[in-house]
Amino acid sequence: MRSPRPSAGLLRAPFMDDFNPCLDCGICCTHFRISFYWAEADDAPGGFVPVEMTEKLNHNLRCMKGSNQVPRRCSGLTGEVGREVSCSIYENRPTPCREFPVYFEDGTPNPKCDELRATIGLPPLPQSPLPRAA
Ligand code: SF4
Ligand code: SF4
Repeated sequence: MRSPRPSAGLLRAPFMDDFNPCLDCGICCTHFRISFYWAEADDAPGGFVPVEMTEKLNHNLRCMKGSNQVPRRCSGLTGEVGREVSCSIYENRPTPCREFPVYFEDGTPNPKCDELRATIGLPPLPQSPLPRAA
């Protein structure tokens, strides 16, 4: 049985052995401008996002290449949106990708995910079987 778990982040690693709603989706990686504090790029001390996959936005911010143009598609995304995708820099993806929730803490699916998924014909996220927070 597939077992969704409350979690967060674009293109998550599997929640369980066989369930990750992001890996046949990926639409959010073609929807948002993925911007973050410049020092997350690995040309800064302690940075981790490959700088060559980013571009400078202003004095404080960089963004993922491909996410600041139309059509929009983050340069880290591989595969075909709506079929099979992955993040080529998953372990080093920037903060906004880590903080976008698939499920909220109470197990409720993120309505923005469902809204985006619907634009490519994917069904709404299943309800998490985990108990809701009191
Ligand atoms: S829109 Fe939601 S389900 Fe789809 S890849 Fe992004 S985080 Fe995952
Ligand atoms: S860095 Fe990875 S998770 Fe973040 S938008 Fe790009 S492909 Fe998606």
